[in-house]
This record gives sequence, structure tokens and C-alpha cells, in this order.
Amino acid sequence: MTSDYKMTINGRPVSGADGKFEVFNPATGQAFDAAPECSQAQLDEAVAAARAAYPGWRATPIDERAELLRKAADALLSVADDMSRLFSREQGRPVDQALQEIQGAAQWLQAVSAMRPPIRVAEDSETQFVETKYVPLGVVCAIAPWNFPINLAIWKIAPALLAGNTMVLKPSPFTPLCTLKMGELFAGIFPPGVLNVITGGDRLGPWMTAHPGFDKISFTGSTATGKRVMESAAKDLKRLTLELGGNDAAIVLPDVDLDDVAQKIFFGAFFNTAQICVATKRLYVHEDVYDGLRDRLVAIAQATKVGDGAEQGTNLGPIQNKRQYERVLELLDDAKSNELTLLQGADVPSGEGYFIPITIVDNPPEDSRVVQEEAFGPILPMLKFESVDDVIDRANASEYGLAGAVWSQDTDQAIDIARRMETGTIWVNQNLMLRPDTPFGGHKNSGFGSENGEEGLLEFMAPQAVYVAK
Ligand code: NAD
Repeated sequence: MTSDYKMTINGRPVSGADGKFEVFNPATGQAFDAAPECSQAQLDEAVAAARAAYPGWRATPIDERAELLRKAADALLSVADDMSRLFSREQGRPVDQALQEIQGAAQWLQAVSAMRPPIRVAEDSETQFVETKYVPLGVVCAIAPWNFPINLAIWKIAPALLAGNTMVLKPSPFTPLCTLKMGELFAGIFPPGVLNVITGGDRLGPWMTAHPGFDKISFTGSTATGKRVMESAAKDLKRLTLELGGNDAAIVLPDVDLDDVAQKIFFGAFFNTAQICVATKRLYVHEDVYDGLRDRLVAIAQATKVGDGAEQGTNLGPIQNKRQYERVLELLDDAKSNELTLLQGADVPSGEGYFIPITIVDNPPEDSRVVQEEAFGPILPMLKFESVDDVIDRANASEYGLAGAVWSQDTDQAIDIARRMETGTIWVNQNLMLRPDTPFGGHKNSGFGSENGEEGLLEFMAPQAVYVAK
């Protein structure tokens, strides 16, 4: 892949009118390339291009739009190998895992292309015909985070474009490069203006959410930013989907087979260096199996190789960016200054990279910061419980409600507990599983609306009821 990164506006590759900003490799802490800095006038151009493309795209039959999504999937697969190395360099994740994200995103495009919005006929009598169809909204403002840059962008592109909307997409300034390449790749597939990709620093997101040319905002990121986005959207009553933060609890009952679940629980907490909105972030373990699980998790942590994602054998990469690294270090310092017991995994590389050792916090107080806040980094508080009612209350005592997990050999009891958890997704004896045909979204401060499934598709559409007198 060439390293001349361009935005895609109206189907054309465009440099940033306001210059470039640096992109860092989190494994070294060094800038290795630069991305275009979008000017306000270029944002206007991108929105105008999306608006001009909208009537034609909306009028294109859905089967043809779906066919182009499948072509986009094929195109993404054809560059997946090359892109996975760039992905690893800008995002930090090991190359093989980066490849899985890109291939998974292509499969997502394929799966969404097969979806169709429902048509509901309320009456078809001698006197009238009444049906509800779903129509697109217009121009979508899509804003994505840095933890799964390709996947979470595709979660927006696929349903929005299938539904007949056009889009201006902005990746995180920490991971702009693969998304820019994807924009250039897709420019050869979708008509000009249907999908525009722009990049810029911290000012670009607020410019976008305040822009009157958008009809809908689809945002994935932190709860704090989500609140700002909602405020900004109110002025023009823009439609809104917010996928925000989480502080997910997992509950481990005393009947588990520890050797079977330890690795799975570790993966659910630490995959992608714990930078997953739906990672296990509070691990509640019944007192009878607490010590056994803790010792197994520490042993796995010690056998896990944290390092540069470009190196063979690395299991977990660095924290993705300096801002997040400093935040996680601050939580770690807080835990240390409160004399919490920290159990750590193998050594991490020294130097400028944003590395933090895998850390398990041994039964900290419920009100400690490491329990109450979303760490979004490899610090996992492990907490003891005695009674099921008590642990459900503790799990639900959070401003967040994104996902959670229950582990038990008694599946019926686990499902019963799962139903009492105040979250949008809940897993029983598994973790991190999400599907294109099933809605995903947060309760409470974890979000507003859904992505994926029919619910997610309809977030990019509005119902239109037609009454026909006979
Ligand atoms: P962030 O909120 O800092 O940034 C997300 C995106 O918003 C970036 O593209 C950023 O440039 C942009 N942005 C920043 N300020 C903005 C503003 N005022 N107006 C408009 N856009 C703005 O989040 P992040 O640090 O990139 O991502 C980590 C967070 O995202 C975590 O809290 C995580 O839980 C959450 N997340 C949620 C989901 C989900 O589906 N629920 C998925 C992944 C990540």
C-alpha cells in the first residue's frame, strides 16, 4: 500500500487543505506517517457531494445497492493482507488479529447486503390499502473510534448505504490510515458522493455534528463525547445513534469448571489489550472458586506476550494512543496509592511504546476507581461475592449498561441471572460474540439506539405510512 493518504470527496482522492497531522505507531511512540487535515470548506464539499448523490442513490433499487456492498466486500478481502500490516502499525494489534478484523468486516458487508427492511400491510380491504414502508433518511454523519477502526466503520457503512442513504465518514485521528485506504478502494465501487471519507484532528468531529447538512449522526465512542454529540444534534433535530462506553460485569458461579473457563474469561477481558467496549471490566467471582480462578488468570497473564504487534508471537499489543495510555496509567497509580493488591503478568517492552503490563486487581473495594470507571486498558478488578442477589445488584449498580456475561454449568440458572442484568447484550458461557443479524446497543449511559440486526438497519430509515382509498 502506498503511503500517500488521501481523503475521498465526491469520488475523488483529495489532500487536506489544512495540511496533515501525524499518525503514531503505539508500539514505538513515534510518528510514522501523516493523514490529511480536512478544512471546514472541504467538509462542506463532502456534505454537498453526499447530498447531491442522495436522490440517485435512493432511487437505485436496493438489490443493486446490495450488489455494490458485495463488491466492496470482495475489494476489502483483496487488500486484507496488505491492510493488516498497516492496521497493526497504526492500531497496535498483532497482524494476524488485524487480518481477522478486516476479513470479519468483509463478511459483515456480505451479511448486511442480504437484509431488507420490512413492509407491513395493516389493511388490504375493499375500501382501502394501508402499508408502512421504510425510507432512507438522507445524509449520514458517521464518526468512528480507534479500537476497531474498520469493523465499526463497516457497521455504519453497510446498513446506511443499503438503506439508500449517503455518508460522510470520519475515523478517529488516532487510526485514520486504513479507513482512508478503504475510502479510496470503495471510490471505485460506489457512485461519486455516496461514501465520502474525511480525516482531521479534534476540531473536525464537532464541526461535523453541528453541520446543518446532515440528517443523521451515527456515533461510536466514549459516553462523555456522546453527550456532546447529542447536544450538538439537538439544534437541527438530527436523528441519532450513539454506541458508547461500558463497564461490563461478568459473574462466575461456583459450579464452573475452572480449567475450561479461565482462558475464555481472560480472552473476554484482555483481547485487543482490553480496549473493547464490551470487554469484561468487572469480574465478580463466587468466593468458593475465587482463588482458583485468580491463580489461573495470573498464570495465563504471565504466559501472554505483550509487545509490538508486528512481531511474530505477540498476543497483545500496546495501548493504542498516548491519551489513553496516560489515562490507564493514572488508574494504575490510583490503585497503587490506595494500596490495592496488583497481580501482574509478564514484563512488557521498555522504551517509548505505550505498553502496560496485564494487571489483575485482587478484590478491591467496590467503590474504588478501578471498579467504578471504564479502564479501557489491561487492568481487571476481580471481586468476591457470596450471594447471587447481591452480585446482581452490584453488577447493575453502574451508569453503564452495554454487555455482560454469566458463567455456570447450570445454564438455566445462568440465563435467569442474565435476564436480570440491565444491559443490551448478555452472554452465557461465552464472550464477545456479536452477529450482523442481532441488535447491539447500550442501555443507560452506554448508548441510544442500536446497530446491527433489523433494528440497526431501521436506525438509518424512517417509517412512511401510505393510505390508499379504493
Ligand atoms: P472518543 O469519544 O474520544 O472518540 C470517538 C470519535 O469521536 C473519534 O472519531 C473522535 O475524533 C470523535 N470526537 C471526539 N470529540 C468529538 C466531539 N466533541 N464531537 C464529535 N466527535 C468527536 O472515543 P475513543 O477514545 O475513540 O473510543 C473509546 C470509547 O469508545 C470507549 O469509551 C469505548 O467503550 C467506546 N466504544 C463503544 C463502542 C460501542 O459500540 N458501544 C464500540 C467501541 C468503542
